[in-house]
Amino acid sequence: MSKLESALYIVATPIGNLSDITLRALETLKNVDIIACEDTRNTQALLNHFQISKKLISLHQHNENQKKDLILSFVKEGKSVAYVSDAGTPCISDPGALLVNSFYEKNLKVIPIPGVSAITTAFSVSGILDNQFKFFGFLSNQKKKLKEELQAIFESNNLAILYESPHRIIEFLENIKVIFGSNHQIVIARELTKMFETIKRDTVDNILSYINENSNHKKGEFVVIILPSGIAPKKVKENDLKNALLITQDYLPTSQSVKLISTLFKKNKKEVYNLAIKKKND
Ligand code: SAM
Repeated sequence: MSKLESALYIVATPIGNLSDITLRALETLKNVDIIACEDTRNTQALLNHFQISKKLISLHQHNENQKKDLILSFVKEGKSVAYVSDAGTPCISDPGALLVNSFYEKNLKVIPIPGVSAITTAFSVSGILDNQFKFFGFLSNQKKKLKEELQAIFESNNLAILYESPHRIIEFLENIKVIFGSNHQIVIARELTKMFETIKRDTVDNILSYINENSNHKKGEFVVIILPSGIAPKKVKENDLKNALLITQDYLPTSQSVKLISTLFKKNKKEVYNLAIKKKND
């Protein structure tokens, strides 16, 4: 019989410094019947460190769809199963979401055991006052698509948090320089919680100089935060407003059509009303 309530436990593990594991994570890993993990060698090393001996099953990006049914069947039998990814919180740019969804589909319990994630760790030391950020995880590894995605971030004026790997970091920052300008402010958080932890908030140009000055500076794992581009959202063209008014005025009285269009296009009501009247008199 399981020592823990029968459920799937989504357990966060450290992103470098093993002392960052939580007491609840250790208790859970000690007491579950089975641990499913992204890479059994990584998780075995973590368990060895904490002297935990447990049956491991691998569940990674490429077998999640098949393995989720096996894990479901264990919990249906009354067992408790933990899922851990290689580092940080599962399901954050890591496998696990398909597994969690399958539990909800079968009305089975999922319990979070929260802990470290690179995104919250980096943001906590960024000094950025704005609380409205958008997390993108990894952008595309195709050159053209990557540029398009960065351009879309520029145009959205979002505060963006991204993950990047060491072998792409220079190209990634070069692209940010071209799209946002060399003086744009960014934050890089490298090797968080590890020996060579480096956190820098500066212009793209200065950060590129820092990374290029020593080959060790581009090693390790990175979180990149891009401050908002500061550009105003794209202007709505007068013709688009006119066309929208033309369509809605066939179905709605002018006042309602103006209300709808000004809300949808985030435009001043009076301005839209004047346009509607002009259109009627044309
Ligand atoms: N699930 C993890 C989490 O909760 O943050 C993220 C896993 S994702 C596959 C790995 C990426 O997270 C790395 O390429 C890097 O961008 C970021 N990352 C993970 N550990 C990090 C660390 N110690 N320092 C900086 N970034 C890290």
